[in-house]
Amino acid sequence: MEKLLVINCGSSSLKYEVYAMPERMSLGKGLVERIGASVGNITQKSGNGVFETEEPLPDHDAAMALVKRALTDAGNGILKSIDEITGVGHRTVHGGEDYASSVIIDDDVIDAIIRNSDLAPLHNPANLTGIKAAIEMLPGVTQVAVFDTAFHQTLSPASYLYGLPRELYTKYKIRRYGFHGTSHRYVSSEAVKLMKRSPENTNVISCHLGNGASITAIKQGKSVETSMGFTPLEGLVMGTRSGDLDPAIILFLLDKGYSKEDINRMINKEGGLLGLSGISNDMRDIHKAADQGNVDAQETLEVFAHKIRQYIGAYSANMIKVDALIFTGGIGENDTRMRQRICRRLQNIGIVMDDEKNQSNGSRPGIVSRDYSPVTIIVMPTNEELQIAIDTYELISQEQQVNKGFMAEAIL
Ligand code: ADP
Repeated sequence: MEKLLVINCGSSSLKYEVYAMPERMSLGKGLVERIGASVGNITQKSGNGVFETEEPLPDHDAAMALVKRALTDAGNGILKSIDEITGVGHRTVHGGEDYASSVIIDDDVIDAIIRNSDLAPLHNPANLTGIKAAIEMLPGVTQVAVFDTAFHQTLSPASYLYGLPRELYTKYKIRRYGFHGTSHRYVSSEAVKLMKRSPENTNVISCHLGNGASITAIKQGKSVETSMGFTPLEGLVMGTRSGDLDPAIILFLLDKGYSKEDINRMINKEGGLLGLSGISNDMRDIHKAADQGNVDAQETLEVFAHKIRQYIGAYSANMIKVDALIFTGGIGENDTRMRQRICRRLQNIGIVMDDEKNQSNGSRPGIVSRDYSPVTIIVMPTNEELQIAIDTYELISQEQQVNKGFMAEAIL
């Protein structure tokens, strides 16, 4: 059994989880918050209990030292010694055009993460800080980068090029990258297993509907279309992001005297469900208001569902045959009414929901379509951390095989 540490490092927070592999068993997880503030805190939960504390955390090295203490705490820890960790997997946002799969981190990978920081200025530097702190804590242990963008590197130029002067692509690499790749990859492979099919002959449309939301078309195991674009802003109406816009709206607003910062705030933080409803970015609040007769909330629900249907329709048309439609993310996994609203108008393209199964299947992985539905509708809880552990385990196993090969050659 290998014990692997999965790290998702943001600018002021650090999420982590320990997995036993190949058993795919979570041994516990934790969250460090307010790194860089005067007082930070950690909460770790495992079968051994809860570890909680507050203390100054000036930087990520201090946060990582606290993670080590929590992991090895005598009473409530997860490990006896930090040396039990044999690999670390890092959620890394942007691999640009450099990586189409997960990779063992070396100097070239670090250079690529830095190079691609231009494309993810908030995320990549924070991810890198986590990587450096983990290397410091566990020198000599294999570290793996799992990129959000990597799964979508199989998109064809037809789906990743924008209708802009080509020099903007050659000069600045402005193109569709897509995000949520680790989640779409995980739920689609689990759905294919649930259907007892093989990826090579299965086409899937995966809807990740959380606070951030995106849809991906996966043809024979490969991402061929995805709704997020150059940044995660494009595509669906999300919790606070606008999703697709006529870009001329931005020019219009600039002419009207809105600043770049105002517009950035409106499209990223004050748009989406929050902006449209004027109530909340939380889908549960919008349902509640809609039930009480609030017309803005009712329209918001329909705008959200309408956009999703449009993407499902467009992606279906491009795939010829769709075998499964997957719902995941907080809304996709839990919101039975939204799933029903989306699917109600998709019967004409072979997506036929079983309303009873949809109600009763709650958040469990399960099939919620009629037996005769040409497209199987599946609710599949996502687990990006587990996918990162799986990738890390695979790369470590390959590395061990190669090392064994070298040893055998040396003996010969
Ligand atoms: P994130 O993208 O931040 O990981 P989540 O995947 O947790 O977000 O999804 C958050 C969204 O899921 C919120 O809009 C929340 O309202 C919605 N959600 C969670 N549970 C339910 C539920 N039972 N019914 C409707 N919406 C839900």
